[in-house]
Amino acid sequence: MPTIAHNLKQIHTQIHIAEQTYHRVENSVQLLAVSKTKPASTIVSAYQAGQRHFGENYVQEALNKQLELRAFDITWHFIGAIQSNKTKVLAARFDWIHCVDSLKIAQRLSSQRPDFLQPLNICVQVNISDESSKSGVTLDELTDLVAQISELPNLKLRGVMAIPAPQADFALQREPYRKLVAAVNTLKNENLTTFSFGMSDDLEAAIAEGSTLIRIGTALFGARN
Ligand SMILES: *Cc1c(COP(=O)(O)O)cnc(C)c1O
Repeated sequence: MPTIAHNLKQIHTQIHIAEQTYHRVENSVQLLAVSKTKPASTIVSAYQAGQRHFGENYVQEALNKQLELRAFDITWHFIGAIQSNKTKVLAARFDWIHCVDSLKIAQRLSSQRPDFLQPLNICVQVNISDESSKSGVTLDELTDLVAQISELPNLKLRGVMAIPAPQADFALQREPYRKLVAAVNTLKNENLTTFSFGMSDDLEAAIAEGSTLIRIGTALFGARN
């Protein structure tokens, strides 16, 4: 069985090679370790191997782990679907929220962010390929939502996130990411510097197209039950 430390090293090597292959700036791609369904002890293993950013999808599960791991210097990202009755706890307990796709949710997060904390880091979720999925704004809607979020006092707009429909073919994996990056570039908004896309099965395609934050679960921690 490969250890988490071994997997982590291997993923960093993969990132490094992809950065070189696709002429990306060295160390411009960060790794978010997606720890949903995995116990706190698994997070500790990755932490001890140097990982600091962790992503969680389920609110109650995440809160339990945060409590257990409160002595650790972890940056917590929420990458799950956001229900409006959970915004208060999300605003209080996380450093980043990745799946913001409506002004209503953004307004709630801003008004519920405690004053003693830094502004909450926000990525807008964009629906780039999966027409059947209801989450994420369309590329057409992105312009307005970005402008509106920029006005909210307790949020710091950082970039965009996407979860495209799975594709096995490398060229097809790249396509939606290329469209997304092109659309973001036309906005000329200097705050949009985080491109949160790429998972275990398409991280090379994501880096090829400009990802700055790949979200990796399976390749790091093994399959989920
Ligand atoms: C579960 C999840 C991931 C990690 O996916 P893997 O294929 O296990 O790497 C990344 N992003 C989001 C939004 C997820 O829900």
